[in-house]
Amino acid sequence: MKIAKNHVVSMHYTLTAPDGTELDSSAGSDPLRYLHGAGNIIPGLEKALEGKAAGDSLQVEIPPEDAYGPRQAELVQTVPKSAFQGVDQVEAGQSFRAQGADGSQRSITVLEVEEDDVKIDGNHPLAGMNLKFDVTVVEVREASEEEIDHGHVH
Ligand SMILES: [Zn+2]
Repeated sequence: MKIAKNHVVSMHYTLTAPDGTELDSSAGSDPLRYLHGAGNIIPGLEKALEGKAAGDSLQVEIPPEDAYGPRQAELVQTVPKSAFQGVDQVEAGQSFRAQGADGSQRSITVLEVEEDDVKIDGNHPLAGMNLKFDVTVVEVREASEEEIDHGHVH
């Protein structure tokens, strides 16, 4: 069975940065499962997997525009420390989940802490990066009607 829209794909993957740093991997745990054609994974990887079958391995390098998008300078902002209510100690390097104005979840990384202000970066940590994926397709099956309806794997 080949990977196409409305199929459930199980795969093992390793994600590396352009400098060779391993960023994420499913090795040693269950394969990642996703519903193909539903935007569950980044567009570049979905495109690369189209038509592949169980047992196939592939290596792809995906540019930011097909991954987590370019870095946006306007997402680096300075906010008052009071915006971090309930956080004991705000320190550079911390990351938080925050709700954006459009209701979407985004990650916020603290870049710098000054006396009353905090400089934050609202870009996805992998924005602006070329991502290398090493993927082995483990299983391909047709999705159930309920999965297609929900837009995700059960
Ligand atoms: Zn569901």
